[in-house]
Amino acid sequence: MNLAENTQYDLVIIGAGPGGYVAAIRAAQLGMKVACVEKQYLGGTCLNVGCIPSKALLDSSQRYYELKGDIAKHGIAVGNLSLDLHKMIARKDDVVKSLTSGVGMLFRKNKVDHFPGTGAIKSASQVEVSAADGSKQTLSAKYILIATGSVPAGLPTISFDGKNILSSTEALALIEVPKKLLVVGAGYIGLEMSSVWSRLGAEVQVLEFLDRALPGMDKEFAGLLQRSLEKQGIKFHFGVIAESAKVENGKIKVAWKSKDGSQTGSEDADKVLVSIGRKPLTESLGLEKLNVMMDKRGFIQVNTKTFETSVRGIFAIGDVIGGLMLAHKAEEEGIAAVERMAGQAGHVNYKHCPAVVYTHPELATVGLDEETAKAQNLTIKIGKFPFAANGRAKAMGETEGSVKIIADAKTDEILGCQILGPHASDMIAEVTVAMEMGASSEDIARSFHAHPTLEEAIKEAAMAVDKHAIHI
Ligand code: FAD
Repeated sequence: MNLAENTQYDLVIIGAGPGGYVAAIRAAQLGMKVACVEKQYLGGTCLNVGCIPSKALLDSSQRYYELKGDIAKHGIAVGNLSLDLHKMIARKDDVVKSLTSGVGMLFRKNKVDHFPGTGAIKSASQVEVSAADGSKQTLSAKYILIATGSVPAGLPTISFDGKNILSSTEALALIEVPKKLLVVGAGYIGLEMSSVWSRLGAEVQVLEFLDRALPGMDKEFAGLLQRSLEKQGIKFHFGVIAESAKVENGKIKVAWKSKDGSQTGSEDADKVLVSIGRKPLTESLGLEKLNVMMDKRGFIQVNTKTFETSVRGIFAIGDVIGGLMLAHKAEEEGIAAVERMAGQAGHVNYKHCPAVVYTHPELATVGLDEETAKAQNLTIKIGKFPFAANGRAKAMGETEGSVKIIADAKTDEILGCQILGPHASDMIAEVTVAMEMGASSEDIARSFHAHPTLEEAIKEAAMAVDKHAIHI
């Protein structure tokens, strides 16, 4: 949509990522007249350069990796295996295209007006859209929702150049497998990208400032995943600060020092991926003039129930407000925010927000991890069950990992769950729903689970909470 005849809206949303586009559709369902301004791509980071393309490459690279080695254990011999990276990347691009065009279709179906261009907030009821051809128009709205997301955070001394020093965006579009890839940051994006390129044949080394991978996730299970990735050939260096990078004779030399400064060194690589986190994207919105409050790191501050900012009528959701920077969190916030605008009781229960690392095995988690529960002085009981004792996992030849369930020692309410193993990303949904319903570990332990399924490991872990698992 370009020049609209009637530019008066109930809601103008800036940003069409999972937060913005889902909010737009829900608001339209609630009877609002909605406009969504998007400067780059429908579907935002998630569909274009995040969740979806990374999972497409993780899936393709895992198939290749299995065919190269693991498939032999099933009695399948593959001859003349070769990699067509161009085709793999093209498939990923096709997946992205079909999903992003689906967002356009959903906008049309729900009568959401899409304005391609950059949105700037002129007042609490006016958004100016600057299109790529230089034309401008002003949209008026009762409510404005900021859903502008985030961009990769760089290191002051190692800046992205898109060619040698990459962000995740470029790491998802390489046209050649690098001989050696150095990854700065052992968060989930770093580990997923490390997995893709390591499976496709790159030597991968990860430099991490902290003394562990995946800070914020269960320490025991993050450690198990790290060891599994090491077995796959990825090397980790912890307690290390990447200090500078220089391109010399086509190689990148990254100088590092240990956290305490006692050791220094350097590592050569063909490509460097900096994945140290993401920062909020608020530039060009004009928030300073409006007194929209932001924290020290630039995240917009909101009322966590209504998602209204410090300026009445202006709301914000998704990565740009911080917290867990995940697509499903942005979606839930988008829905809750517009339901609140419509006078409904939308809410987000952050306690039960799952998070997944899509490596192999996958690591999925919901609720409290063991250290956090202990740090909060909660009296807990823990049940664990390994996939090595699960019939379906054995049949699949996927026995690595376990399920851990943490329950309140007195009430038996499930407080958290970690799953390291095959299809952990799908399985965590069972526990998420159970927790949302206030279930106890006994509720899961006494529920039917079809046999043979991986989910039986969840049932057995729930039984193990009260020490009556059957198969261990
Ligand atoms: P975004 O998706 O960032 O969308 C914001 C949109 O706003 C963008 O399209 C941008 O162009 C637009 N915009 C910004 N400023 C303006 C402006 N002034 N005017 C108009 N438009 C503007 N999350 C998961 O849950 N699961 C995963 O598996 C996962 N994998 C990821 C893998 C990678 C490599 C990356 C980088 C991220 C991944 N994420 C994942 C995180 C996820 O992508 C984000 O949490 C999610 O996209 C945030 O949604 P959002 O709507 O808040 O913002």
